[in-house]
Amino acid sequence: MAGLYIHVPFCAKRCLYCDFYSNTEMKYKEPYIDAIIQEMELRKNYLGDESLETIYFGGGTPSQLQAADFSRIFEAIYRIFPVDTSAEITLEANPDDMTAEYAANLRLFPFNRISMGVQSFKEADLRFLNRRHSREQAFQAVERCKDNDIHNISIDLIYGLPGQTEKEWESNLRDALRLDIPHISAYHLIYEEGTTLYRLMQAEKIIPVEDELSVSFFSTLIYILADAGYLHYEISNFARPGFISRHNSAYWTGKKYLGLGPAAHSYNGTNRQWNISSLPHYLKGISENQPDTEKEELDINTRYNDFIITGLRTMWGVKLSDLKKLFGEKKFAYCLEMASPHLTQGLLSLENDTLKLSKQGIFISDSIMSDLLYV
Ligand code: SF4
Repeated sequence: MAGLYIHVPFCAKRCLYCDFYSNTEMKYKEPYIDAIIQEMELRKNYLGDESLETIYFGGGTPSQLQAADFSRIFEAIYRIFPVDTSAEITLEANPDDMTAEYAANLRLFPFNRISMGVQSFKEADLRFLNRRHSREQAFQAVERCKDNDIHNISIDLIYGLPGQTEKEWESNLRDALRLDIPHISAYHLIYEEGTTLYRLMQAEKIIPVEDELSVSFFSTLIYILADAGYLHYEISNFARPGFISRHNSAYWTGKKYLGLGPAAHSYNGTNRQWNISSLPHYLKGISENQPDTEKEELDINTRYNDFIITGLRTMWGVKLSDLKKLFGEKKFAYCLEMASPHLTQGLLSLENDTLKLSKQGIFISDSIMSDLLYV
């Protein structure tokens, strides 16, 4: 079983913090859809004969596509790939795109999961982040999905905004719970180089929150969502039982996936490849039957490091017998040696052959993972 990711590189406007590849020029939409379909044909053998267990439209803003666009894309997917009858099929959407008509149209397609970019319920935060939607639209958008029988809904939230208080973050989480949805992803604001947000920080026009407050926000997040019955299954992801994202979990458990569209990444167990992050260059490459793609063959050290990072991020952890089988005695011994001080300090746990971040360790996950990497 494998995954298909389709990167939809259009946004009506750019958010302050975003470093995902997207373009605000909708004139490229038709050529883009032609190219996606052609890329499916060109790369249909990348996954071998595995059928698709998940399909994910990510972005950018996939909800900038319309019914006629989805018709063409789904016709091609089902013609070219074997698709599992119970496949999880996700659309990332912006709340302001989810008009009553748009939500009703989704029923024409096999979407069974919506991931909504809510980010915050506070109007001032939304304006600061340069988001297009309002608090009210976020509530409406979720209701419209439910009215159209899509109940597997996730929202994204961002915390750690400059000047944000504990009380404001808690109030955002309470609003999220009011939506009564089965999945929530929450990410700390990151100052990515090249973004407007980064430039504002460099110019000292905004001041990032103190580390201590970031830790406290994360702690509040974990506490409130656990108390509301959500499973903390990955560092930034929380789900009610039965609603863990199958697509994202596939990334963390090393399943194969094919990524289509500019900037999309693919992985087939032995190599990783990624398309150029430029829509015009992507279109040119596909039109010449030569996708503009870079490829990395994964050596054993890289695969070991990926195994550690992706395993420790999740509640399933790193299964040591699998590690030994896949990477041999030497890497197994190395992993145990590097894990040892963290086990002693209670930052990692080792039970039933499985290494996991402890409740304390999750707060410094990056540094623990980096200690276990093979360099
Ligand atoms: S956060 Fe989403 S909507 Fe905003 S610019 Fe990035 S991809 Fe577009």
